[in-house]
Amino acid sequence: MQADAAEIEVRLARARSFCEARGVRFTPVRALVLRLLLQQNRFFTAYELLERMREVRCSPTPATVYRTLDFLIGQGLAHRLDSVNGYVACRHVSHEGRYALAVCTRCGRVLEVQEAGMSAQLESRITGAGFRLDGECVELRVVCGTCPS
Ligand SMILES: [Zn+2]
Ligand SMILES: [Zn+2]
Repeated sequence: MQADAAEIEVRLARARSFCEARGVRFTPVRALVLRLLLQQNRFFTAYELLERMREVRCSPTPATVYRTLDFLIGQGLAHRLDSVNGYVACRHVSHEGRYALAVCTRCGRVLEVQEAGMSAQLESRITGAGFRLDGECVELRVVCGTCPS
């Protein structure tokens, strides 16, 4: 599944100005990794990203890929999916509160859901039981609309 080319450019431009406003550099390798993530709606593993970067004649080391992913995640431009060991571009401009990432277990498509009421309810149940959420994200395993159930 390919994302719309014009939308990718808009998102990259927004990420660039976002980084400039924060005084962090949006280097070519950072832009490339974010572009690759934005180009597909399914998640990437770090290894897949490394392969794709080599295809566009950039020869990064695995350390570069991980460092770049850490940067993008730190700036809120990408998310890590612990359940599948993958990475996905953030589809929101900003996060207000918690969010859920629904990952299709068949094709790897990811849907990002921000819903304050759901998050608040979940958090209150968890804290009510004496636990606390570790991290901002809830991961859900789903089957998407285009995959056979
Ligand atoms: Zn996000
Ligand atoms: Zn699917």
